Amino acid sequence: MTQEMGHEFQSNKIKRLPPSVVKDIELKNHARRLANLSAIKIVVRTCISCGVQFESAGNRTCGCNTRSAGFIAGREII
Ligand SMILES: [Zn+2]
Repeated sequence: MTQEMGHEFQSNKIKRLPPSVVKDIELKNHARRLANLSAIKIVVRTCISCGVQFESAGNRTCGCNTRSAGFIAGREII
């Protein structure tokens, strides 16, 4: 497990993705590149449910109203 992800922006207002999810997305992106698919981007969005800012890999909510399993697995990718 490495903690050096290059994610340097620190904000306590933004709900961040757990490192395991970020790692999972990086692995998926590697596979997607090999398959000539566009990479999944992590962007900061505002939760449509509670209005909190959060890091999203395609999710529209921060996870407050979705099952944590689905959120953690990053399956809500559009
Ligand atoms: Zn929310």
